[in-house]
Formats: sequence, C-alpha cells, structure tokens
Amino acid sequence: MTSEKKDIRSLSKEELRAFFESIGDKPFRGNQVYEWLWNKGIHKFEDMTNISKETRAHLEAHYVINHIKVDSLQRSSDGTVKNAVKLHDGLIVESVLIPTKKRTTACVSSQVGCSLDCKFCATSRLKRMRNLNPDEIYDQVVAIDQESRLYHDKPLSNIVFMGMGEPLMNYKNVLESIEKITSEEGLGMSPKRITVSTSGVPKMIKKLADDGVKFHLAVSLHSAIQATREQIMPFAKSFTLTDLKESLEYWYEKTNRKVTYEYIVWDGINDTTEAIEALVTFCKYIPCKVNIIEYNPIDDGEFQQAPNTAIDAYINTLERYKIPVTVRRSRGKDIDAACGQLANKS
Ligand code: SF4
Repeated sequence: MTSEKKDIRSLSKEELRAFFESIGDKPFRGNQVYEWLWNKGIHKFEDMTNISKETRAHLEAHYVINHIKVDSLQRSSDGTVKNAVKLHDGLIVESVLIPTKKRTTACVSSQVGCSLDCKFCATSRLKRMRNLNPDEIYDQVVAIDQESRLYHDKPLSNIVFMGMGEPLMNYKNVLESIEKITSEEGLGMSPKRITVSTSGVPKMIKKLADDGVKFHLAVSLHSAIQATREQIMPFAKSFTLTDLKESLEYWYEKTNRKVTYEYIVWDGINDTTEAIEALVTFCKYIPCKVNIIEYNPIDDGEFQQAPNTAIDAYINTLERYKIPVTVRRSRGKDIDAACGQLANKS
C-alpha cells in the first residue's frame, strides 16, 4: 500500500536539519534523527528515545518510515542465500548473499526489472517498473549483512551492484545509497569493497569519473566484436564499443584505477579465436582484469555455456598476453540465484 505521507528516509541530513529549523527546533535534531534512521535502522518514530514525545508525534503526522521486507528467503546447498524483497509498494526485487572462504558478498538490485535487454539475462524479460530508492538499496545490504552474521558468523565484506537492473540507469540513487553505505552514520564500509557493475553506458562511465567515485568499476563486456555484442546485448547498437573504449580511457585517465571486464563464454557465440583476439586487443586500451563467469542457462535457447576447452582457450591466451584473468564459478544455481538468473520466479 502506498502511503500519502512522505518517506522520511528520502530526506538528506541537510533537509532534516532544515525541517527542524522550520518548526522552530534546533537543526542538530536533524542529525539525531538521521542517525536513528540510518545507523540504528529503527522502524518506528517512538524508538527515537532522545527526541521529545511532541517532536516524535509531529514527525509521525508528516512522515512514514518505509523499510523493505524480506518476503521469502531461499538457502542453497553451497551457502548462498537469495532474498525476495518486498518494497513498500508491493513490488519485489531479489538480492543474494554469496559466501566464500575469504569473503561474504552481497549482490544487490538497483531497479525493479531492467531498462536494458541482454538476451542471456532472466531479468531482461521483466519490464522495468521503476528505479529503487537509495534506502531500498541500502536496506538490501543491511538484510544481507544480518543474514551473513546469522548463517556464516561473519559480517558482510563486499558489495556488488550486479543484481536486477542497470545501476548506471539509476545513477543518482545508486550513488546516494553508496554514500550512506560508506558513511559513518550508515554502515561505515570502505568504498574499496564495493563494485558497481555496468553493461557499459559510456556517458555515465564518464560521469562516474568526473564525480570522483572511489568504488570499483566492472563492465559486462561479453564480446569485443561490435556485431556479436549487439547480438548478445541489443542496446549495444546505441552504446557502441568505440564509445565504450573512449569512456573507459577517460575513466582511467581521471581515476588511475583499472577496470574489471565480466565475460561469459557461450557455445557458438563468442567461443572463436577471432573473439579471443578481439578481447586481447580491447584489454590493451587501459589496465584491466578479465573475470570469466560461469553461465547458467535460463532456458533451452541459444545461450548455453561453452565447453571447458573454449574457456581454457581464453585463459591461456589472456595469460600469454599477461592480462590478469580469474574464473568465477557459479553459486546458488539450485535456487536460481546465479548470475543472470534473477527473475522473481517466486
Ligand atoms: S544483465 Fe544486467 S543490464 Fe543486462 S538485462 Fe540483465 S539486469 Fe539488465
């Protein structure tokens, strides 16, 4: 149900300070309320114990506190946890906790559905309904942190924006959520532990560089041949490899930080020598690393994981050219939590 009152968590600290000033109270009350909302994560105004009863009633008359709700939770045999998260208007997104020996990673969503049309991805089949608000992204991280402590006895160590949606198509809210995740009044996490993964929106990559962000950037490349990339990701007709290359050079020039290229090898699509050579050429433009991701078919269609020999051919060639390469095994396959599988099946 949508409330007519405004969500108080959509206000910045400055706006909260201004609100208190406007009602004749001290601006620092805004800081106190901000801390209750973000650091302490309270759900009810009455829990703000250092705020007077009258002020709490005043806040309640004007605002609501919206929080996401984990609607259902599935646990994989490999320790992966998938949350179906209900938003205040009843829409659902998914987020995943991926534990490994060294780290526990939250994979979070940034949109309900997706604006883009990657052919291999289950989310692309859901219409984009809306962008997530900063608090809805933040709450996914908090929920996964709690699950990490509960099921794996350790706090969350990393975050990737690789769930449902294209994060750079919800630029402002994604950056605001990261600001809260990294701020002392929020979760106090280092931006170095956060990776924003984009399908490659050149204009927004340049904007990230201009905005001086401190988190890591990953690009879902999947092919360095224009025609093949268009076949896999039709939006690449508008966001060409030439523009992508130029934006990545701009990113590196401004940030001096390398980029990770996410890459899936599909049978009969990009498992050729020509495709490998094109990737090697693309990798020479700026310092980078290639992350080859194991694919989980979403149906019996054209996108099927290539055999190991094809993946080995990529690894051997990249290593010969001294390009760092890692292979990421798929996690949470039995609960449809693996890469490209998030589709609100529940
Ligand atoms: S891979 Fe990412 S950008 Fe592409 S359709 Fe899926 S969610 Fe959207």
